[in-house]
Amino acid sequence: MNQPELPLVDLLDDTHGKPKLLVVDDQPINIQVMYQAFAGECQVFMATSGAQALSICKSNPPDLVLLDVVMPGMDGFEVCTQLKADEATRNIPVMFVTAHTDSAQETHGLSIGAVDFIAKPVNPAVVRARVKTQLTLKFQSDLLRKLVFLDGLSGVYNRRYFDQQFAIEWARATRSTAPLSVLMIDVDYFKAFNDRYGHQAGDDCLRQIAVALKITLKRPADLVARYGGEEFACILPDTALDDAIMLAKDMEARVRDLQIKHETSEIAGKTASVSIGVATRTVDSQGDATALLGMADAQLYQAKQAGRARVLGKLL
Ligand code: GH3
Ligand code: MG
Ligand code: MG
Repeated sequence: MNQPELPLVDLLDDTHGKPKLLVVDDQPINIQVMYQAFAGECQVFMATSGAQALSICKSNPPDLVLLDVVMPGMDGFEVCTQLKADEATRNIPVMFVTAHTDSAQETHGLSIGAVDFIAKPVNPAVVRARVKTQLTLKFQSDLLRKLVFLDGLSGVYNRRYFDQQFAIEWARATRSTAPLSVLMIDVDYFKAFNDRYGHQAGDDCLRQIAVALKITLKRPADLVARYGGEEFACILPDTALDDAIMLAKDMEARVRDLQIKHETSEIAGKTASVSIGVATRTVDSQGDATALLGMADAQLYQAKQAGRARVLGKLL
């Protein structure tokens, strides 16, 4: 009976390309069968040993692994156990595909963390249906993990993610000679903006500013987060003070270029604006991570005192 070919993943959107599937089997003919079943809709990667499978999972994590149990050397159970023991690979779902389907084996496979167990020879339609279910679940849980770190109002990262990344980047900077810069960004006269235009308009203003800040960033490692109510913060790894100030000035100009009307602002032009404090850690710096953030905050305060809509920066 010909069954309609359902799309593999309904949740596919711009954030994922084709799902990545890793097929692990010591018999190339078995891999071939899976390849034919999935090549149209998935990027199919292949491994003919357990060791090879582990190495691919680390270097290019797939969205799902179809894993043979009986293989010479490291068997599928061992591969699964190692994947689940490693923080970097534990979220990759594993489906066992095997000729040995007694219930003890199946129970063991599920107990070490596999999501499903399929009998060989496989029925392509059944495998497709089961793979579709697992990929959908995988993308849903990826999305949830991502949402935990995003700010609901502005769409940029939240404070939790900032704190986590800042700790990582600080530690990285202390192990290298590369500078590390941070920006503290605060909207000027924002209480007056809310009072004049209402809280909804205030929220909309914050969203537009978040986008302007984000598109000014140049490198993949740079990040902007909402740090508090009307405050944003940036981490700029491997960025010297002069370059960080230049980027901050770009951001400040871009926010004014939005030309969001703010008649109760004291800033010439009567548009929404931000003030930015910059601080940079170099190899010669003495203070700790908290001191770097404190210095960016102090520079922000100075920028406010000096008239707002401007950038000030300092070396730690
Ligand atoms: P300054 O130029 O010195 O920064 O003055 P300011 O008015 O911006 O600073 P202040 O700290 O007095 O006020 C911040 C205002 O930001 C008050 C608060 O209602 C508003 N705010 C904070 N979070 C949000 C938010 O999520 N949405 C909106 N609409 N307003 C917010
Ligand atoms: Mg503030
Ligand atoms: Mg403010």
